[in-house]
Amino acid sequence: MTSILQPLNWLLPAGVHAATTLRFPGSSEREFAGLNLGTHVGDDLLAVEQNRQMLSAALGEAVKPAYINQVHGHDVIELNSDDYQKLCLQAGDANLPSDADALYTQDQNLALVVQVADCLPILLSDKNGQEVAAVHAGWRGLASGVISQALEKFESKSLTAWLGPAIGPCHYQVDSGVYDRFESASAFKSCGDGAHWMMSLETLATEQLIEGGLDEVDIVATNTCTYCHERYFSYRREGQTGRFAALIWMTANKTSEG
Ligand SMILES: [Zn+2]
Repeated sequence: MTSILQPLNWLLPAGVHAATTLRFPGSSEREFAGLNLGTHVGDDLLAVEQNRQMLSAALGEAVKPAYINQVHGHDVIELNSDDYQKLCLQAGDANLPSDADALYTQDQNLALVVQVADCLPILLSDKNGQEVAAVHAGWRGLASGVISQALEKFESKSLTAWLGPAIGPCHYQVDSGVYDRFESASAFKSCGDGAHWMMSLETLATEQLIEGGLDEVDIVATNTCTYCHERYFSYRREGQTGRFAALIWMTANKTSEG
């Protein structure tokens, strides 16, 4: 069986791993078919549970996934293995009971999961492979500072960042209510009517990462529009639909040196 975990074109320190899921295969049906990982979208929760079990199986016994209730805000949960055990026992599964839009950890064997369908998934690692984060960034999250909140958690000032599949400027039309929230000129192209713009979440996120007070940040952007590519769920293309995942985790670095 081929893994449901899609490898990323992203150079990572030893011991750091990252992946996305795609729309298929999976247990969900109808508008959620098939690998919907979101419990909040109206899908049959039994099917979502089966899909999440597929993801857990692909990660293997040692690596535990952590899901959050994403609310388009800027809160970051700093997670460690002990808290994870307690919180997931309370919640009865791997969904943390608190609302947040980013996860950060220094612990191995915790897979930080963000769920998306047009919003931008951002994965972060320091260059020594000691700390990682996963961020859910739509326009509201970007406007409310979710990136700077996530960067503040890092002890290192030298990071690598991956910007995943999200709705692209080819399809993401917004009105002045969104446009006016940002200073960026390059993330918006006018539709010519003075009231609508085509927006690039990727450009905005890139600008915020560069302005984030780091000494060094490498940014790998996938430039992949979820609306254009049916292998991903897309909220704007389909309305009610599922969520795919981007995730990052650390394991013991098995490379032995001299
Ligand atoms: Zn597109």
